[in-house]
Amino acid sequence: MKEILQNLKKVYKYTKEYNKYLFTYMLIIPVMSAISIIVPLLSARELASITSGTYETLFVLAIFVFGIELLRNVCNYIAWFSLMRYFRESERVIKMKALRAVFGIKNKNLDGMPSGLIIERVNSDCNKISDAIPSIVEYLLDIITNLGVIVTIFFLNKILFAFLLVGAASIFCIKRQRIKKWHEFDKQRRHLSERVTSFISELIRGVRDIKVLDANESFLNTAEDKIKDYHQTLFKGRRSLRRYEFISGSLQDLLDYTFIVLGIILLRDNLVTATAFVTVFLYKERIYNMFNVYTRLQELFQDFKLSSSRVLEIIDGDRYERESFGTKTLENIKGDFEFKNVNFGYKDSIKVLKDMSFKVDANTTVGFVGKSGTGKTTIFNLLAKLYEPESGEIFIDGVNINELDEHSIRGNMTIINQSPYIFNMSIYDNLKLVNPKATKKEIKEACKIACLDEFIEGLPEKYDSIVGEGGIALSGGQRQRLAIARALVQHTEIILFDEATSALDNETQKSIQEAIDNMKGEYTIMIIAHRFSTIINCDTIFYMENGKIQAKGTHKELLKSCSGYKKLYELELKNNV
Ligand code: ADP
Repeated sequence: MKEILQNLKKVYKYTKEYNKYLFTYMLIIPVMSAISIIVPLLSARELASITSGTYETLFVLAIFVFGIELLRNVCNYIAWFSLMRYFRESERVIKMKALRAVFGIKNKNLDGMPSGLIIERVNSDCNKISDAIPSIVEYLLDIITNLGVIVTIFFLNKILFAFLLVGAASIFCIKRQRIKKWHEFDKQRRHLSERVTSFISELIRGVRDIKVLDANESFLNTAEDKIKDYHQTLFKGRRSLRRYEFISGSLQDLLDYTFIVLGIILLRDNLVTATAFVTVFLYKERIYNMFNVYTRLQELFQDFKLSSSRVLEIIDGDRYERESFGTKTLENIKGDFEFKNVNFGYKDSIKVLKDMSFKVDANTTVGFVGKSGTGKTTIFNLLAKLYEPESGEIFIDGVNINELDEHSIRGNMTIINQSPYIFNMSIYDNLKLVNPKATKKEIKEACKIACLDEFIEGLPEKYDSIVGEGGIALSGGQRQRLAIARALVQHTEIILFDEATSALDNETQKSIQEAIDNMKGEYTIMIIAHRFSTIINCDTIFYMENGKIQAKGTHKELLKSCSGYKKLYELELKNNV
């Protein structure tokens, strides 16, 4: 219960702005409950006045009941409206908080988190939280009203009261068992559902690779097994819950029938008046309901606990480490940077960068070469603070990046990786996204430098052509050039270019090279090269081996001084022959 209260408090704080709707709902519910108590009392009197022939009273009562029913409808509408507003707004707020929090989680933690897990939590768990709160409020208020009804029944007739209480308690015992089963089942169901969503999202993301691997059947079979597993558990769980529902439903029917028989006997023996019996008859659902509400409330609390813990774990739990930034801002960045004795590993046991130190001057172009897996891309990851070094320091313009705010780091650099993310919108919008103030002329200029303008002008809709999913499919080289243009539009001073390993055709390779050459001298460009042709003209080349810089110099210098570099170069020449 402590955890539920803590979580309720947190959600209440997050949705502060919209809690007024919840309060309106809380005010309306007691009015509606009072109406639902009054109406049966009045209706019983109406019936009594029919039998006694006092038609005047009947007329007044009928008008009164009609007025109250009208009020009930108005309250119903207000309750519905407040609930919808609360639900809509709170769901959005919690979802956005969770999504924002996902962005704040350290990449180290995100690496081990299946995307399905996040999707399930952000989507269905957030819905459940906003759904549960008004229901909890409603049920709590319902219990209070029902208590009033129970006291009324007690005073109307003690025998009927005792009968209803014992009956409701027996049904409650069966339902309690059902709840226990439901808890076990729900936990298992959520776990399996997360597993299915994770696998399907992996499958969709990897569909192209799976096709090439000719592994469609094997992956589809695994997906089917997981879905089957999920549905089997769902079926078994629901079947077992149904059994309890069947027993409690049958018992309820038996009790209803017995109640009427008991009532007739009591009426015959003058142990109850007709009005009292009709009133208790109209109220009796409320006694059963009270136990139902109690069981439902327990279910809701458990549901809320599970969903809120899963979401709050992402929003502010300590299971996932959060990214942190400093407060310093770099106003006019020059673009030089330095690694000083940096040690880093993605997993604690495996060191990727070992005591790495190097310096890159602003507006120079540097290349990194070395065998695959030596840690070249990792340098980019650390520079963009996507990961943090275990020890050592990284400086941008002489300032330790731990002191810099997020924008000074990430807003001043662009990483162009092997498959840059292109949004499913027009080319123009893709470029404007990173700099809303950019003019059409600037965008065209950037595309010219990135050697993409000619291609775009050849498209039927030119800059308005939709690219990405469902639009024009761009080749790897075109995506990279569009990402270069994006960097130019964004005016980022540092451009980190991770050349594609997959063999780009020579023409594309030449265009990318030309694009990089066009930027030389004005940006700090760092290139991870898989082909020597890309870096031969760099101002400085760093040769890496086993997470360390073994040598640095120009291409000519390294050919003379570094045997590892020379060997790699000769290997490429041989492969190209
Ligand atoms: P390079 O760019 O030189 O090919 P990387 O910097 O990409 O090398 O990778 C260096 C090492 O770190 C490799 O052994 C790689 O498997 C590992 N690595 C890269 N990214 C991750 C990650 N996100 N989690 C765990 N290990 C990683």
